[in-house]
Amino acid sequence: MSLVNIFKNRCPNCKKGYVFINNNLFSFMRLTEMNQKCPNCNYNFFPENGFYWGAMFVSYGLASLEGMLVIFACVLYGNELFDYANLLIIIAFMIILFPFNFRLSRIIWLYIFGNKTK
Ligand SMILES: [Zn+2]
Repeated sequence: MSLVNIFKNRCPNCKKGYVFINNNLFSFMRLTEMNQKCPNCNYNFFPENGFYWGAMFVSYGLASLEGMLVIFACVLYGNELFDYANLLIIIAFMIILFPFNFRLSRIIWLYIFGNKTK
């Protein structure tokens, strides 16, 4: 399992084919479109119905971590810890980072729980 390949949107089996059709993790274009199977090694990206339901928990973890980093940056910048401006900044970051969290959480879930056999 390689962290670099997760961020490069690569297949967990061969590390060559792409999981999402749009390779830019931050783009809103074709957000939910994934390859059914790896174009290179035919690895199944949908092992069972509802497989990616659990990726929601990974997404929650990512969003929480990002929110804490933004709060930390706001406090470093000079805002009070419980300032309403921090809330607006976090909401803006959550909207901007939504495609990144969506794609990354699914890829992480696939790397953890995807079939180890083809
Ligand atoms: Zn592959």
